Parts: sequence; structure tokens; C-alpha cells
Amino acid sequence: MEPRAKTLRSPADLIEAGLVPPEKLAELERIAARYPVAITPALAGLIDPLDPDNPIARQFVPDVAELDVARGEREDPIGDDAHAPVAGLVHRYPDRVLLKLVDLCAAYCRFCFRRERVGRGSGALPPDALAAALGYIRAHPEIWEVILSGGDPLVLSARRLAAVAAELEAIAHVKILRVHTRVPIAAPSRVTPALARALKRCGKAVYVAVHVNHPLELSPEARRACARFVDAGIPLLSQTVLVRGVNDEAGVLGELMRTLVECRIKPYYLHHGDLAPGTAHWRTTIEHGRSLLRALHGRYSGLCQPTYVLDIPGGYGKAPIGPDYLEGDERNGYEVEDFRGRRHPYRTTDD
Ligand code: SF4
Repeated sequence: MEPRAKTLRSPADLIEAGLVPPEKLAELERIAARYPVAITPALAGLIDPLDPDNPIARQFVPDVAELDVARGEREDPIGDDAHAPVAGLVHRYPDRVLLKLVDLCAAYCRFCFRRERVGRGSGALPPDALAAALGYIRAHPEIWEVILSGGDPLVLSARRLAAVAAELEAIAHVKILRVHTRVPIAAPSRVTPALARALKRCGKAVYVAVHVNHPLELSPEARRACARFVDAGIPLLSQTVLVRGVNDEAGVLGELMRTLVECRIKPYYLHHGDLAPGTAHWRTTIEHGRSLLRALHGRYSGLCQPTYVLDIPGGYGKAPIGPDYLEGDERNGYEVEDFRGRRHPYRTTDD
């Protein structure tokens, strides 16, 4: 059972729920006029209003710092627009496309990389735009993988998702269907056996990548939602955004990765924070991110290791950003670092 009845969508709702003090109403109104607000019952139930460092509140309760735009921040931080041949579709890498089915989410992360696009009220991709996007996929045999994204595609009904999956099923060169979602965490009751069946039925290899940032998000309800996918034969991956004050500590990040693996979710990406407007207060330094990855490598199972990535501003795609454990070259020999930080020579010849 999810503990509260309705999604909190306005400053007045947040005050009434006791998540922010009434004297913050005016500043919250300024933020809500600029960016959407939504905290689902499942997430609100994980917030302790007496804990100023609650990791769920930090991610979803608006903060006036969101109105400060830092140098380098931009409306389209990962450059989707530069690779959008038709509405709702991003073709950045040769073998895969992003199909943005809807611009709504169950809850709005305050550091969202698409915060200038999501929750603006246009909702699902219109039928003619969806038809054009599917036509583009049909006409490009190099497209091996289609990633359903948004917004969050799992806010759509199982019937609508099944219809999209059926269209993709008929495209022989598409072999993989991947779904990017935060719904199993934000609204776990939406993940029904019917939803899992709707995705699985399409006959492609289906993967679900769940956005999770803190171990507290993996509530018993969220774990059951994730298990519904795995039990239906859909492997789960995770995507985590490195967020200051939420998961930028090695113990928290390690606990998150272990909890994911225990839930049969393979840690996939740790994203360095994108340059979305008003999100500087959430970003760590890359140097700190690398030190966290080094700590994970030193203390946790190989199953618990995500790849630390940066989306290159301008639309140039993701790049793994380390850390590196090998220095040198074939000619002069290498030095390789072990999990305790000790360095060892490695030579492939005796010269
Ligand atoms: S779920 Fe994803 S798209 Fe939606 S608000 Fe969070 S980061 Fe943005």
C-alpha cells in the first residue's frame, strides 16, 4: 500500500503535507511557476519532515537555488535537439534511437536534465508525430535498439505501451527495446503484471533501466515493482545521477549499488550531473566522482560497479570518465593499480 492518497503538485500541497514551512510559500510559488512540481504518495511516504537531510526531500522538494543559472548551464544540456530528425525522436548514435513518448513524469526530480522540456503540459506524443517517428525507425535499418524515454514512458497505460511495442515488433531490424523509467520507484503500484506483460509480449529483447539515486528509494513496494519485471523475464539495469547531498558519499553509493544487485538490478550508469539550468548546487566535481568510483572498486563486488559517464554538452554523446587504473604504453611498459591502490609494473615482453 502506498501511504498517501494524492500526488503533491503545488506549493500549497507541500505546505499542507508538512514538507515545507508556510513562510516559504512565496519562494515556492516562484519556482513552481518555472518548473513542474510533483511528489507521489510513494515518495512522500519516504520523507521524514523532521530530517533536514532526507535524501528523498532533497531530490523532490523545490529549493530556491533552482532559480540561479550558473555559467555553462543550458536549456538542452545533452544536445537532444541537434539530433532530432523528427519530433519525439533523437538519433545520436548510429545503432540506436531515443523515442520520447511523453513529456510527463510521475514525480519531478529537481535536478532533471530535461527540466526545460518535461511537465510542460503537452503530454503524450501526438499520433501523427508517433507515426512519423515509427516511420523513421522503419526506414533506417541501422537502428538496432529503440529506447523508450520521455518524460517517463511508464506513466502511459499498459494498453498504449502495448500498441507501441506491437509497432516495433513488426520492424525486423529492431532487436532491442529498452525502457528508461523512474516509475518503479516513484509510483510502484503502476508496475502491474499487465504492464510487464505488455512490454514483454513484443518479442524483442526488452530491458528496463530504472533511475535510482539512494538506497531509501528501494522501498518494499519499489522492490516488488522491480521484481515484477524480472520475474516476467525482463532484465533490469540502473541509472543513477550523482547528486550532491544525496549519494556523493562512498558508503551511501556502495549501499545503493549493493541494494540494486540484491534486487536483481545490474548497476549500469552513474551520470555526472548535466548542465541543466539551476542545478549547480546538485553537481559534485568530476574529481570527487572519480574518487567515489575508486572507493567502489576498492570495496565492493564487480557486480556493484557502474560506469561513470558524462554527457558531452552539445549532443556529442556519453563518455566514460574514469577513473583510470593503467598508465604507460606497450613500448615502455605499463603500471597498473590494484583495488587497494598499490601500483604494479606490467610488461608484455622481456625487452
Ligand atoms: S524521472 Fe527523469 S525525466 Fe522525469 S524529472 Fe526525473 S530525471 Fe527528469
